[in-house]
Amino acid sequence: MKADYHIHTQLCGHARGTVDELVASAIEKGFKQVGIADHMPMLYAEDAHLAMTPEQLPGYVEEVLEARERYGGRIKVLLGIEADYHGPTQAERVAMLERFPFDYVIGSVHVLGDWIFDSPLDVDRYDELDLDEFYMEYLGEVRAMVQSGVYDIVGHPDLAKKFDKRPTVDLSPAYRGLLEAMKERGTCYEVNTAGLRWPVKEIYPESAFVRIAAELGVPVTLGSDAHCPEDVGRDFDMALELLEGAGYTEHAVFHGRKMTLVPL
Ligand SMILES: [Zn+2]
Ligand SMILES: [Zn+2]
Repeated sequence: MKADYHIHTQLCGHARGTVDELVASAIEKGFKQVGIADHMPMLYAEDAHLAMTPEQLPGYVEEVLEARERYGGRIKVLLGIEADYHGPTQAERVAMLERFPFDYVIGSVHVLGDWIFDSPLDVDRYDELDLDEFYMEYLGEVRAMVQSGVYDIVGHPDLAKKFDKRPTVDLSPAYRGLLEAMKERGTCYEVNTAGLRWPVKEIYPESAFVRIAAELGVPVTLGSDAHCPEDVGRDFDMALELLEGAGYTEHAVFHGRKMTLVPL
């Protein structure tokens, strides 16, 4: 069953397409389910080009729920959100998440301290740091996010590689530790094809991660991380190949924060 669970809308300020246009693209591509998961207000920074504002959130929820009604029968539209993890603003974020009937919450680490490390505007900072330490810090933060119990799906689990700045250490032990925590918490992760469109030119997460996840039986969702209608479902053939190669036969779908496994 085809389902794309990671789709952004023009509301975040750096994507193109209304909910309508994005859902229409999913229908055209034969999807049975589509999850809109735009960037939740960041709370640690205000930037109209990175996420919707707190004032826009209720309208976003309403627009997606309205699309669910309108497209019912043709495609199942889910209300998702991509929320950050950031310690100092976490209480406010959790309270905000509880106010709306999300079907699932993708948790993503985009910021370490004050550095939005996945922003193309701030790539210079990679030259000043120890990449091994950066990767371990990033994966530690993802693990803390999982242990917070607030999120259903870990977004792009190895986002640290986005600009193809690679570590020298073997990340497998850290992946295993993270995935064991996910298994314990009942948290999924996503296979996200957007990495193919960035300098790293690779799906998130890398195959070493997917193999350990398959071995431990950690469920997976699929997401294009589309920021325009054309990218909905993009490169899902490669995502399927990666998952099947690791031994996956099922993927996870959500409704009202409850997960079910369905055949790939
Ligand atoms: Zn985005
Ligand atoms: Zn993200």
